[in-house]
Amino acid sequence: MDLKTPLRELSRMFSAYDKRLEKLGIVSVQDLLYHIPFRYEDYSLLSTIARAQPGEIITIQGVVTEITNAYTRSFKTIQKAIVQDATGSVEAIWFNQPYLTKVIRSGDRLSLSGRVGLFSHGRVLESPEYEIPGNGETIHTGRLVPIYPETKGVSSKWLRRQIYMLLKKVRPLLTDYLPQSLMIDQSLPPLHDALKHVHFPLSLEDARAARDRLAFDELFLLHLSGMTKKQEWEQHLKSHPFAIAPYRTKIQAFWDSLPFSLTAAQKQAVREIFHDLAGKKPMNRLLEGDVGSGKTVVSAIAMYLAYLNGFQSVLMTPTEILAQQHFTTINNLLSPCGLKIGLATGSKKIGIRNEESGIKNKKKPNSKFQIRNSFNVLVGTHAVLSKRINFARLGLVVIDEQQRFGVKQRGIIRQKGKNPHLLTMTATPIPRTVALTLYGDLDLSYLGEMPKGRKNIKTWLVPSEKRKSAYRWIEREIQATNSQAFIICPFIEESESLKTVKAATKEFELLTNAIFPNLKLGLLHGRLKTKEKDQILQEFRDRNLHILAATPVVEVGIDIPNATIIVIEAAERFGLAQLHQLRGRVGRGDKQSFCLLFTEAKNTQTVQRLKAMEVMRTGAELAELDLKLRGPGDMFGTMQHGIKQMKIASFSDFLLIKKSREEAGKVFTHMNEHPLLVKEVQNVSIREISPD
Ligand code: ADP
Ligand code: MG
Repeated sequence: MDLKTPLRELSRMFSAYDKRLEKLGIVSVQDLLYHIPFRYEDYSLLSTIARAQPGEIITIQGVVTEITNAYTRSFKTIQKAIVQDATGSVEAIWFNQPYLTKVIRSGDRLSLSGRVGLFSHGRVLESPEYEIPGNGETIHTGRLVPIYPETKGVSSKWLRRQIYMLLKKVRPLLTDYLPQSLMIDQSLPPLHDALKHVHFPLSLEDARAARDRLAFDELFLLHLSGMTKKQEWEQHLKSHPFAIAPYRTKIQAFWDSLPFSLTAAQKQAVREIFHDLAGKKPMNRLLEGDVGSGKTVVSAIAMYLAYLNGFQSVLMTPTEILAQQHFTTINNLLSPCGLKIGLATGSKKIGIRNEESGIKNKKKPNSKFQIRNSFNVLVGTHAVLSKRINFARLGLVVIDEQQRFGVKQRGIIRQKGKNPHLLTMTATPIPRTVALTLYGDLDLSYLGEMPKGRKNIKTWLVPSEKRKSAYRWIEREIQATNSQAFIICPFIEESESLKTVKAATKEFELLTNAIFPNLKLGLLHGRLKTKEKDQILQEFRDRNLHILAATPVVEVGIDIPNATIIVIEAAERFGLAQLHQLRGRVGRGDKQSFCLLFTEAKNTQTVQRLKAMEVMRTGAELAELDLKLRGPGDMFGTMQHGIKQMKIASFSDFLLIKKSREEAGKVFTHMNEHPLLVKEVQNVSIREISPD
């Protein structure tokens, strides 16, 4: 047995619990050991029966003199026991646990922990935890008792017992992989002690120290894993360095042809990207920038340089709509410079389209031929991953909204060239410290500045009683200013399930028939055929529709400058960063834009959280607030791949992130002296890839 051994191989009992444990994310021995309690019940106060006071939470030890099962008037059962010690006796009661009369027998010595209640006939221990104390320590009573995340059929009591026994068993396997000097410097307890005490602490300080050590480890290993990957990338991969100097005038001309001047942040990002592209190792850079900060044009410049150097580029997007839109954008930007742009969408039949010919090749395309020869840039969805798509000279891979792709997919696309340069882009506003932890293997460029002239998007939280007047306002605004609106239907499930589509369809019908009978509306959801999506979006773009109702999943990155209003239904279901991304669909032109957040929520905390949208303007601010209020899970949303779930550490603990990173940096240079650590770091990467 080692830490990776699946529990089901350990005993028949574990294999019977296999499915249930999996719900808690527990498969291996290690998973169970690292199933960390979220709190402790304090049963450490030992009392004699005589001194037990009503209201106290205590532990008593005594002998059972009587145990009975009784029925209440409502046909429920009550189990009553009388327990006696040298100082007196007390009654203990439980509800609806008839099996207790089989487990606990008259004459048993019991340890009982719980609250002392006061009934008309005297003091009563209410539903106490109980166990028969052996010679060793108690685990359910008489101490700080761990309470775990549970699921149906897996109680904290069960987990406690299993973890206790497992800890004993694996003790010899838990050799410390941290360098001794580091543990001393940082006053970290040994690994075994940390695990033991995080589950079964002697005091709360003890528990905290244990947790700190495990949280440190988690971040420390993550940093080291990032550093290792980065080093591997740098040492082992050789790229085709792109020449820049011969093309300066051409690039300058392209630059000058843009209808706007680049922001300082965009220029800086281009400089960083060019520096990488000219290098001997392939670029591996993440371009992070708020919605609307102008990432696309930055990537277009990189693709242009690839072209000038005789290489093809691919731009991969998570949705067809986005692919379509990027295709148009890139085409507008780069075809005047002589590039041929292709579009590949659809997963089964790959449709390849070339704007110039206008031909859409739908039947088994001779895509190999087309791509090898016809395109300098291929824009597409997952379809570009298809085996049928090959490139003659792929030099640059750009992945938009990279958080929506898994490690595997990123790997596949890179395989289509010989160590192509890789530029990933995201609008997920991750604080820099967190980004460095999550993407320690990448270089970061950050667009921390919006193009000039962008107006703030006026944002209002609209409670249910103002919904009607909000609808009338929208109608007037659309008619008066000739603008258009998005209405984002409620978030139901993270995928475009039938349920989501049904809800959106219902909403759409309501909007069309009852709310905006005088306006033209369209509905966009992920289950539509590509052609239908294109058509609806085109109609919206051509201003034949006033309002586009859409599901939340479908619209990442849509760019329609004439749309100035966005309504987000059931806003409370989204994280702030997600709301901010949705809001970024408007405010793209120079007209004043508006965001209306609809909510039925009355809870003050929820309302306060949403109100932040009215005053906070940047994704970074909102992400940080979300991190404080709701924790990291929600900041990243649920739709994202590749976010490593941390079990113990928190992304909001910037101090610990910083400290662990510094220590990782110190150890990294001589990591080979610590073979156990090296092995542990390798395990990190395995864990992280598995979700794909
Ligand atoms: P995102 O970073 O969210 O992907 P886009 O690349 O879609 O943003 O850019 C949003 C809009 O801003 C586009 O319409 C684009 O043409 C425009 N844009 C990009 N850079 C600038 C700039 N420097 N000045 C003005 N507008 C810009
Ligand atoms: Mg974008």
